[in-house]
Parts: sequence; C-alpha cells; structure tokens
Amino acid sequence: MTRSLGGAELAASIRNDASVAADALSEIGIRPTLAVVLATDDESTAWYVRSIASAAKRTGILCDIVDLGPSATTEQIHTTLVELGHDPDVHGIILQTPLPEGTDLDALREAINPAKDIDGANPVSLGRLVARLPAFAPATAQAVIALLDHHGIDLHGKTAAVVGRSTVVGSPAAHLLVQRNATVTVCHRHTADLVAATRDAEILVVAVGIPGLIRAEHVAEGAVVIDVGTTATDDGQLLGDVDFAAVDGRAGALTPVPGGVGPVTTALLLNHTVDAAATQYAQTRSDALLTGSRSGG
Ligand code: ADP
Repeated sequence: MTRSLGGAELAASIRNDASVAADALSEIGIRPTLAVVLATDDESTAWYVRSIASAAKRTGILCDIVDLGPSATTEQIHTTLVELGHDPDVHGIILQTPLPEGTDLDALREAINPAKDIDGANPVSLGRLVARLPAFAPATAQAVIALLDHHGIDLHGKTAAVVGRSTVVGSPAAHLLVQRNATVTVCHRHTADLVAATRDAEILVVAVGIPGLIRAEHVAEGAVVIDVGTTATDDGQLLGDVDFAAVDGRAGALTPVPGGVGPVTTALLLNHTVDAAATQYAQTRSDALLTGSRSGG
C-alpha cells in the first residue's frame, strides 16, 4: 500500500503559526506585507497569485498584487522591484514567473532586496543557502523537506534522486537534502539514462514540468516519491510529473497533485513574509537605538 503524503494538515499548521506571529506584529503596529509582482495575462498564473493573496489575507498579511501587464519591459519591472525593495511598508517580494518574452529574468532576480526575498529567487539567497548561511530558501524546495519531516521520513544516510536542476526547485532541493545527510543524484534533461539514475533511490523528488515523466520503472519498490510538478491543462486540471496510477502501489509513499507540495509552498511563503517583517522591524529598532546612543553620546 502506498501512503499518501498530503500537505493540507502541515500547511494549516504553518499558516496558523504565521497568523499568530502576524497578530503579534500587528499589535505593535507592523502589518506584514507581501508584494507580488506580476507581468503576464496567463490565467493559471493569475489564479495562483489570487490564491496566495487570499491565503495571505486569512493569515493577517497584506498582499499587494503589482500587475505590470503582459507587455512590461525589463526596465519597468526592475524599477518596480527596486522601489519595493526600498519601501519600508513592504516586507516580502515575489517576482512571479512567467515574465514577458525577452525580459531578463536573471537581472530581475538580482534586483530583489535579499532581506525581502521570501521565495529565495535572488542568487544571493541561493548562494547563502549553499554556503549554509541564514537565507530564505525557495519555498517549493523547502516545502519538499518540510513535507518529508512532517510525515516522519528520515533522510539521514538515505539515497535520494532529484529530477530537475532549476535554480528555484531542483538545485536548492538537492542542497537541502545533502544538508540533511542524504546522498543525492541530480538528474536533468541531459541525463542519458533516467531510469538507471532513479530506480534505486530511496527518496525521489521530481521537479520537471512534464506530466507522466516518471513511471513505475523509475521508482524503487517502497520508495518515497515527492512530485513537485504542476502542469495546468486547458480544462483546468493540475497534473504532476509522476504517472500516479502507475506508481501508486509500487512506491511506499507518494504526494498527491494537487494537495501535496503546493499548499505547503504557499504556507511557507506567508511564514517567510512574517519572518521578514519581524527581522526588518528588529533591524529598524537596533538602527534607531544605535543612532540614538550615538547622538546622545
Ligand atoms: P522548474 O522551475 O519547475 O523546476 P524548469 O523548466 O526551470 O522547471 O526546469 C525544468 C528542469 O527539468 C530542468 O532542470 C531540466 O533539465 C529538467 N528536465 C527537463 N526534461 C527532462 C527530462 N526529460 N528528464 C530529466 N529532467 C528533465
């Protein structure tokens, strides 16, 4: 029997923690605020952003959707990100992809103030994560680990395969697994024999965006399979990268799509926003104290 690794319960508990912390901040006059920069008319992206906004609202976080439209330029988006980075009333920033064709995503990621980079998109955040320094990890990669922890799956000394090496999911997930003492194989589009690279892994994390890529032959009997893929179909369905029917019964545990990694990711984004607000508040206080003691002395 394959265990279902659902994310709803964990997501609710993370949101609850975030909500308690947001209330405490509100009591001292800080309203945690998340800005989501959007530049697309893609309907499934708009739906995703609205779902973050409504979860934020329920958690006591203000969510400002900055919609620049599908013809926004790199320069316009850059200016917006820099302004938000300086705005003392904004604590967290998400740069939502996809961006308009031709815009320079790499340059834009670098324009996100690292203190507010709650989805770990700035390469500074990724570098700090790899260097094991405090940083916001990309929420999806962190959600993979949080979900494994929540379901009591020990990673220490295990073999893991990660399929996909994007800077937002596969690569940071692989680093986080190594940091938890797993031995990790990273697979990507040039992996010559994907079956050979995955079929012995005790933990299999898949973040590619190709529905049904992972079939029974990729999965060891009893393996734990985390499906990060979410591909929206024209009729509004959300498809994972794992052929669920083929792997169900063979895997020891498997995340559902939707309802697995997704809700945990959204909850972590809110949690990071509240953390960022608290850290920025503490920083402002300590700056004020230092300035005060200097001017007083
Ligand atoms: P995401 O950000 O959702 O991870 P990207 O499109 O940025 O998605 O990255 C997709 C990743 O999936 C890339 O690292 C790519 O190498 C990997 N990939 C694409 N096709 C295959 C494949 N057939 N087998 C293994 N990995 C693949």
